[in-house]
This record gives sequence, C-alpha cells and structure tokens, in this order.
Amino acid sequence: MAGRIRLYVEQPLGQGQSVALTEAQAHYLFGVMRLAAGAAVALFNGRDGEWTATVAEAGKRGGRLDCVERSAPQRMPPDLWLIFAPIKKARTDFIVEKAAELGAARILPVQTDHTNSERIRQDRLQAHAVEAAEQCGGTFVPEVAELRPLSRLLADWPEGRQLMWADESLAGPAQTLSGAAPGPWAILIGPEGGFSEAERARLRGLPFVMPVSLGPRILRADTAAVAAIALWQAVLGDWQ
Ligand code: SAM
Repeated sequence: MAGRIRLYVEQPLGQGQSVALTEAQAHYLFGVMRLAAGAAVALFNGRDGEWTATVAEAGKRGGRLDCVERSAPQRMPPDLWLIFAPIKKARTDFIVEKAAELGAARILPVQTDHTNSERIRQDRLQAHAVEAAEQCGGTFVPEVAELRPLSRLLADWPEGRQLMWADESLAGPAQTLSGAAPGPWAILIGPEGGFSEAERARLRGLPFVMPVSLGPRILRADTAAVAAIALWQAVLGDWQ
C-alpha cells in the first residue's frame, strides 16, 4: 500500500505474532506520526517478508502491534558487498543510504592509505541503512560492518568472491563487465585521495580482482559508489 508507514523490527513476524515497541519506535509512531489504536503499519525484519500490523496498544514509552497478514514476500539482494573508504560524514551517510537502496547485501567501511576518516559511528551508519530500507520498500537491511584496514580484509578474502575494483587510473571508456561470471562479488571504492601505489600493486596482483573504469571523468567517491553498484546490478545483479 503506497504511503504506508514502514518499520523495521527485530522480532519474528507471522500470523498471530505481537511486536512490543521500544520507546523510540513508540515515540515515532504515536508522537511523531500520530497513529492511534487500530491504525495499520507495515513491518519487516529482514527474514519474514513484510507484514501488515495494526496498533493494539499505543503509549508514550511503548506499545504493541499485532501482525494481521503478510503483504510482501521476503526479497534478498544479490550477494554483493560494497567496500569503501569513509569520506566526510554527510557523504559517507549518503554512500550507506544509496548502497542499501540499490541492493547491496553488506557494507564494509575500510581504512586505506589515503583514507580521510580514521573513525566511523557504525551504529549511526547502520541506522541509516535501516531508514533507507524502510523508505525504499525493501524487506532486507544490509549489515554495516565495523571499520577495518583494507589490507586485512584482502588478506582474509573469502574464497569464491570476486572483487570489482573501481580504479581511477583507468578512467576512460566505461567497463561493460562483459565476461564477468555471476556469483558472490564485492565492489571497492577508494577515498578522495585515491589508492596509493602500494595498494594498486597489491590489488593488481590478486587473482580475484577485476579492475574497472567508471567512465572518462574522475567521480567523487560517493558518486563512484552509486555508479559502480548500478553498473554491477545491471549486468550481474537483480536489475536484469
Ligand atoms: N584522487 C584521485 C585522482 O585524482 O585520481 C581520485 C579519487 S576518486 C575522487 C575516489 C574513488 O572513486 C577512486 O579511488 C575510485 O575508486 C573511484 N573512481 C572515481 N572515478 C573513477 C573512474 N572514472 N573510474 C574508476 N574509478 C573511479
């Protein structure tokens, strides 16, 4: 139903299930959105699809919703990770929000040699991913991982996952990804300062890495993240 309030919850959803609300959820539904008993809300938890629920109890510090019927099946995104070096706060928020909307399964901030930011607020970024899923009609919320060094992530790389490396030094005709095999993938986007020579040498030597161009212009990191996910989704993901 268009325009309906959608809320991500952690509890199981199903016929006859009741969902107890946290104080923050109750404040949002009853204080901000002014819902009263009997109002309908759409709930999802990333596992059980979307459920229509009605407000059974509305209080200032809590409340209860009762599941009525399943309104959409669970839809999982393709197995795509977005790996990126955090930039300024608002632009990092944008990257997380767009990655969740565009269908990334996992979001991994990494420290690179030229990373602009040494710290992230993982909980805040995770909340952005939840909000993006609530607003775009998704039934899945990608996990936002804690910040870790790119070198460690590459050292522990999982077998069978391929890495599309957005390499600014290739700026030129956009890559088509032709010949790329489907399966688990990750996309790597660098920081404002790009990748260091040591990082490029390492990435070039790894068998699971496919360097790509994102066109003839050098994009800001947040634009590059959106462009790279769109390119991958159109060729190998669930936009086909
Ligand atoms: N400082 C770098 C330079 O001047 O070459 C630019 C870095 S760019 C702002 C940030 C990241 O976006 C890059 O590390 C790369 O991952 C990605 N990127 C931007 N434009 C790109 C392009 N045309 N092709 C491939 N990757 C690109």
